[in-house]
Amino acid sequence: MSDIAHLGPVELLTPTAERSLAFFVDVLGMEVEGQDGASVYLRGWGDYQRYSLVLTESAQAGMAWLGLRASSPEALRRRVAAVQGTGLGEGWSEGARGRGPSYRFRDPDGHNFELYYECERYDPPEHLRPALKNQPQRYLGRGAAVKRLDHVNVLAADVRSSREFAQEALGYRLYERVELDDGSEAGAWLSASIAAHELIYTRDAYGARGRLHHLAFWVDTREECLRAADLFLDHGIKIEAAPSKHAIAQGFFLYGIEPGGNRIEVTTGGYFVFDPEHPTVTWTEEERARGQAWGVHTVESFHTYGTPPVDAADARPDGEALR
Ligand code: FE
Repeated sequence: MSDIAHLGPVELLTPTAERSLAFFVDVLGMEVEGQDGASVYLRGWGDYQRYSLVLTESAQAGMAWLGLRASSPEALRRRVAAVQGTGLGEGWSEGARGRGPSYRFRDPDGHNFELYYECERYDPPEHLRPALKNQPQRYLGRGAAVKRLDHVNVLAADVRSSREFAQEALGYRLYERVELDDGSEAGAWLSASIAAHELIYTRDAYGARGRLHHLAFWVDTREECLRAADLFLDHGIKIEAAPSKHAIAQGFFLYGIEPGGNRIEVTTGGYFVFDPEHPTVTWTEEERARGQAWGVHTVESFHTYGTPPVDAADARPDGEALR
């Protein structure tokens, strides 16, 4: 087992707190676990921790921090020492709601991370008690009924340096990547587990730093992704990319923009990596130009838009990243 067990929770910022909350509760079907000032704590029915998403009102959309759970107290110490060695460590805090001491750091691109080990398991109230003792919460089937946080895709001005940091300081494995003809890196699909991707870096078309591309929530079937698309449609949620299958990591996807402007994916599929010597799959510029798995081409905004948004008057996306 790697020193990082999995990612999450994640704190997401929104300028339209009420409408974003309605999206996560009514459309994605998440449960409110608690509230604290400007933050609402949300969970999927399969999340074992108390919450996987902290939704916080803010002037701008984007990601405040991404949590990483270490696999043991020793693993936490090892990773903190490794991060400190890079000079990117910021220090310990008491930790967020339901969590023990957390070590805060930034990746080379400037995204905030919180590394922790101790956390509380979810203890459902009576009305959310499941029938089966191996399930954290009752399945209610409201909205898209997402099960859990699955993966996080952040944007980086320089993919390579953040990808190397994730591998060297955090111990992530690199399963897939995109290398452009000029030798630069346009994307890296990293994982701390056998899941084909957990933490993804893709190139920021504006060369901006610290931005979010999307958060992805898991459902068990492709049919649920299609049903989520119908829900997005009838709830006025902008569908940026209708359901299809990615070539990279082979995830089945639906991408929409929640009312606060953040891109949210409902996902399933993908593959597991059982091979401890799995060779990194490198995709070329020409291969990427063929589109997604079934030849569908994603819209341009998918390769340029992120949160917080970049003021289009001040910046022009770099054409090479438009793939
Ligand atoms: Fe995704």
